[in-house]
Amino acid sequence: MLTHNLGYPRIGSHRELKKACESYWSSQISLNELLDAGRAIRRHNWQRQHEAGIDLIPCNDFSFYDHVLDLSLTVGAIPARYRPLLDMPDSSELDLCFAMARGYQKDGLDLIAMEMTKWFDTNYHYLVPEFTKDQTFSLTSRNVLDEFQEARALGINATPVLVGPVSYLLLGKEKVPDFNRLDLLDRLMPVYLQILGELQGLGAQYVQIDEPFLALDLQDETKRAYESAYAAITRACPELKFILATYFAGLEDNAELAASLPVNYLHLDLVCAPAQLDQVLSLIPPQLGLSLGVVDGRNVWKNDLKRSLELISKAVEKLGSERVALAPSCSLLHAPCDLVLERDETALPSEIKGWLAFARQKLDEIVTLRGLAQPETHRQYADKLKENMLDMESRRQSALIHRPAVQQRFAAVRPDDLKRQSPFGVRQEKQCADLNLPLFPTTTIGSFPQTDDVRRLRLRLKKGELTPEQYEAAIRTETEQAIRWQEDVGLDVLVHGEFERNDMVEYFGELLKGFAFTGSGWVQSYGSRCVKPPIIYGDVERQAPMTVKWSKYAQSLTAKPIKGMLTGPVTILQWSFVRDDQPRSTTAKQIALAIRDEVCDLEKAGIRIIQIDEPAIREGLPPRQADWKDYLNWAVEAFRLASSRVVDETQIHTHMCYSEFNDIIESVAEMDADVITIETSRSQMELLDAFVSFRYPNEIGPGVYDIHSPRVPTEQEMTALLHKALAVLPARNLWVNPDCGLKTRKWPETRRALVNMVAAAKALREQV
Ligand code: GLN
Ligand code: ZN
Repeated sequence: MLTHNLGYPRIGSHRELKKACESYWSSQISLNELLDAGRAIRRHNWQRQHEAGIDLIPCNDFSFYDHVLDLSLTVGAIPARYRPLLDMPDSSELDLCFAMARGYQKDGLDLIAMEMTKWFDTNYHYLVPEFTKDQTFSLTSRNVLDEFQEARALGINATPVLVGPVSYLLLGKEKVPDFNRLDLLDRLMPVYLQILGELQGLGAQYVQIDEPFLALDLQDETKRAYESAYAAITRACPELKFILATYFAGLEDNAELAASLPVNYLHLDLVCAPAQLDQVLSLIPPQLGLSLGVVDGRNVWKNDLKRSLELISKAVEKLGSERVALAPSCSLLHAPCDLVLERDETALPSEIKGWLAFARQKLDEIVTLRGLAQPETHRQYADKLKENMLDMESRRQSALIHRPAVQQRFAAVRPDDLKRQSPFGVRQEKQCADLNLPLFPTTTIGSFPQTDDVRRLRLRLKKGELTPEQYEAAIRTETEQAIRWQEDVGLDVLVHGEFERNDMVEYFGELLKGFAFTGSGWVQSYGSRCVKPPIIYGDVERQAPMTVKWSKYAQSLTAKPIKGMLTGPVTILQWSFVRDDQPRSTTAKQIALAIRDEVCDLEKAGIRIIQIDEPAIREGLPPRQADWKDYLNWAVEAFRLASSRVVDETQIHTHMCYSEFNDIIESVAEMDADVITIETSRSQMELLDAFVSFRYPNEIGPGVYDIHSPRVPTEQEMTALLHKALAVLPARNLWVNPDCGLKTRKWPETRRALVNMVAAAKALREQV
């Protein structure tokens, strides 16, 4: 029974990758120092996995930015606009990679970054491959091969991990009309075969190919593509053994197809779809092995060993232990690195810590499960099983989890709680009269640059170097400066700037009951951006107002309206590690009730515009369409529960980022926010199409400034985008804003961009 891992967190347990990349970007370290930092992380990860006793250890799961972007470089799918960089003498491959990820404004060049989107229903983002009709592929970056050799030099015959050819094409996007990216498969395959051939030549034994799409809804032509691709792969590389990995959903109607592909192991995500095991076992051909993803790769709860063993023994009974492998359900990229680093009893009480396992601990769980599943080693591990069963029981019974008051409130929710007083048309008139905003009002999404100074304030508070009063005074100063700054720039609806928030979810989590926190539980969100999701372990309840003080203070400084700023229930859920002992929908609605309390208090305090951010609604969509309706129903209900108990005059905003809206536009409309601001700038307003063809009824601010890149857009550029929007939306419904919060930007570039943005809005007012 082999144990293997699908991928290990690449950021380093102390976020070494983030620090190295950002130092390199600000020219504080050299390229060589950055490369060294990458090597150190990889070596450390390989050693960890080796020490844990994992048989097959992945390589090429590392990336300086994103593994899908790396693959685009590997196969030479480099959009034409970056060609000038290829010809530049001292620009390295990694510089090209960063330019593609972040845009490039130097040397007289001005290249926009590639589009970025969520990796399935996770909070990881990948860079969307861009394909043209005449797309060609050739082996361009040798990273995969280099990493394999690097591991071998350290004595590890690692298992290279590649996103498979079909999923790679499906992850991308046609940049010109009239062709289907899957038609590029014939051109792409030779590069895969070349890479695999070279790996075989170098002595690789196993290769893991990730085909997450194989567990999604597939069209017939995609099924054919799978058949031909994998026939070609195994034909070309008879000495390699292949693990074909699926995750995030069950195979269902694709089970037969998946089991018929000529690979050695098929990996199943048995955490999100345990029922698929029976189905696959019923049709598995004699030569195929199964890799059982029994340890949750994307949540933090300790594995229920007994339950996993039931699944394992079912497979062993049918296949024999030789044909069974054990693994996490998906790459551990989505899990924090190491629970051992958590030592703060107030943030993470030891009782709760006892219920958790992070990436490193999950490796141990896999090895333990193997020990328990094999009769010859079972006794050696029997104590671990006993201990685990006690842990499971203590969690179920814990008084920390269950709060009767919350459960009663939840049970008392009525349909009226989900409805605003009047329909949008009525509200719009009232809000218009009340707020008296100009046409094309300008605003931002909430946060302003979180400078090192601001972050240091929080650190000093934590260390006791600042009293809470001193900290508050400093944040007040920041807030006041931001108000003056916004007035100066000429924005119409101001924000307080979110200086008091470390993170839009963590901030609320810290103030709500039912949440625990880690000190080092970072996971990668995109590039160097990491998040530290809270852990929702119990019933959620608000203890006291959370934001009112700051919004009220900001409003006291200006005659312009201040937009109150809250994070929505679905986003808080989606960006946390969520308890797995009750339905997610229940937890979402508990959070919604807490947010509703805050909305009401903001209104009472005189805040007339309240934004409830739901950037994560789209990413929570289950991978399989059959499950969408149910999810969207409760997600919309949670938002409405949080937002409906206000008077007509109070304007509710929401914000969503990185969303493909086509699939969910009806539900977005059902949320019935008065104003929605969305990402669109990187896709040149493409995302707006969904709103237009649906005739989205409420007000909308399609982002005109891409804040995910340091590049400053010109006034003309934004005017052009606004004209595009105006051609399809009623003028009175159009807002002007960046496409997300400005937290990660620097002040000078933000100022130049927003000055341009306000100028663009003013120019438009004159033209219309
Ligand atoms: N209000 C948040 C901010 O501006 C929204 C961030 C987000 O959408 N991810 O930071
Ligand atoms: Zn956003």
